[in-house]
Amino acid sequence: MTIKYLLKESDIPKQWYNVAADLPGGVLPPLGPDGKPVNPQALAPVFPMNLIEQEVSTQRWIDIPEEVLKLLLQWRPTPLHRALNLEKALGTPAKIYFKNESVSPAGSHKPNTAVAQAWYNKQFGIQRLCTETGAGQWGSALSFACAQVGLECKVFMVRVSFDQKPYRKFMMEAWGGKCVPSPSTDTAFGRQVLAATPDTPGSLGIAISEAIEAAVSDLSGKTRYSLGSVLNHVMLHQTIIGQEAQKQMEMAGDSPDVVIGCAGGGSNFAGLAFPYVREKIHGKKIDIIPVEPASCPTLTKSPFSYDHGDTAKMTPLLAMHSLGHAFVPEAIHAGGLRYHGMSPLVSQAVMDGLLRPLSIAQLECFEAAVLFARTEGIIPAPETSHAIAAAIREAKKAKEEKKAKTILFNFSGHGLLDLSGYNKFLSGQLVDHELSDDDIAKSRKCMEGFPSPKDVAARLKA
Ligand SMILES: *Cc1c(COP(=O)(O)O)cnc(C)c1O
Repeated sequence: MTIKYLLKESDIPKQWYNVAADLPGGVLPPLGPDGKPVNPQALAPVFPMNLIEQEVSTQRWIDIPEEVLKLLLQWRPTPLHRALNLEKALGTPAKIYFKNESVSPAGSHKPNTAVAQAWYNKQFGIQRLCTETGAGQWGSALSFACAQVGLECKVFMVRVSFDQKPYRKFMMEAWGGKCVPSPSTDTAFGRQVLAATPDTPGSLGIAISEAIEAAVSDLSGKTRYSLGSVLNHVMLHQTIIGQEAQKQMEMAGDSPDVVIGCAGGGSNFAGLAFPYVREKIHGKKIDIIPVEPASCPTLTKSPFSYDHGDTAKMTPLLAMHSLGHAFVPEAIHAGGLRYHGMSPLVSQAVMDGLLRPLSIAQLECFEAAVLFARTEGIIPAPETSHAIAAAIREAKKAKEEKKAKTILFNFSGHGLLDLSGYNKFLSGQLVDHELSDDDIAKSRKCMEGFPSPKDVAARLKA
C-alpha cells in the first residue's frame, strides 16, 4: 500500500486560485476612517501596487510568475501522506490523509506566500520589508524569502515569545533578518505602549502596528510592510497546497469527504480548503472544517463584524469574525492561532454556509499531537495539532458509525522549535483555557460604533 503520494516538479500548479471570484455572498470591501470603501491607492504606502492589485482582484485564476515558481520548487510539490499507522492506532474504518507543509526551509506553509511577497516587492523596487511575528514562524519565513530575492527584513516579535522562544530569532538572524522585541523603542507606538505598560508581554496587534509604522515612516519610499496571513493575497498564494492535494488525492484514487485545517489568520486552512470550497460550490458534498483554539474562538463565538487588523487601528476596517482589536489572548502554546481576527475570505465563506468551524482546547490537541508523533513520526507544531485533533474526532466518529470515510487535513508545520510546549504537556503542567461569553462581550466592546457588514452590504447595493 502506498503511503506517500509525490508529484513531479512539472506538476506544480501554474496559477493561484482566487475564491473571491466564486463566493456566493460576494466579498465586502475594507473601509477607511470615513466609513467608505478604501481606495486601493490609499494602501500604496503600506504595500507595493502589484500586491494591492492581487488583494482586490476578483479574477478566478492568477498566473504564478516563472521566477516565483522557481523559488517554490526548492521544496514543492510537497508530499501527501496516508496516515496508515494513525488509522491503525485508532482502529477506524476512515482513511486519513495529510498534506505535509512541514518540508519547507522554515518548517511550515508560510514560505509559500513569503517568497511570492518578497518577489513582488523586489519587482516593484522595494529594498526592505517590515513585519511582525508571534511565535516567530512568519518572521523566519519572511527572513528566508528576503534572503532568496535580496531584500532587507526587519521583524517585530511579540515580547513574550522573543523572551521564551529565542530559537526562531536565531533562525531569522541566520537568514540575515533583524529581529527586535515588540513593543520596541524603535517606533512611536511602541514607545507609547512601553510608557503606559512597561511589563506588557506584547501582542500580535501591537507588533502589527509597529511594523506598519516602521514601513510608512521610511521617507525614502523603499520600505513596505508584509503580512503572513489574513489578507486576500496571502490566502491566494497558499492555494497551491489544495491544488496539489487535489492531484495527489486523484493519484490515490480517492476524494475527501472531510477537509480540515487549523485556523489562526486562516491562511494554511484556506490554502488547502479553497480549491475544495470551489468543488463544494459546484455541488460536491464536502464537510470543510477550520479548527481554532477554545481560548481564541474567533469563528465559533465572534459575530461577523467590521474591525481593525491591529491594536493601534492603523489598518482599514475589515469585514471578518473578530474578538476585537484590543483582545489579548491567553499565552497558549499555539502562538500562531492567537490572532483576534480571521481572514475576511474565510469569514465570508463561513457566512455563506460553506464551512463548519470548530474550536478545541489545548490538552486534547497536545494528546492528538503526541499520538501523531508516536504513530506517524513527525512532531507537529502546536498549531497543527488542532487540525490533527479534529481529524481524530472525525475518525472516531466514523468508527462509532461504522462508516468508511476519507479525511484530509493540512499538516501546516513541524514542532521541532516548540518542544518546551511538549515538555510542559508531558509533565502535566498545561491546563485548558476557555474564553467565557463574558470575556468575549468585554473584548468586543472596542468595536462599538463600527459599521455593520449588513448595513455596508445594503449601502453598496443601493
Ligand atoms: C502561522 C501558523 C499557523 C497559523 O496561521 P494561519 O494563517 O491560520 O495558517 C498554523 N500552523 C503553523 C505551523 C503556523 O506556522
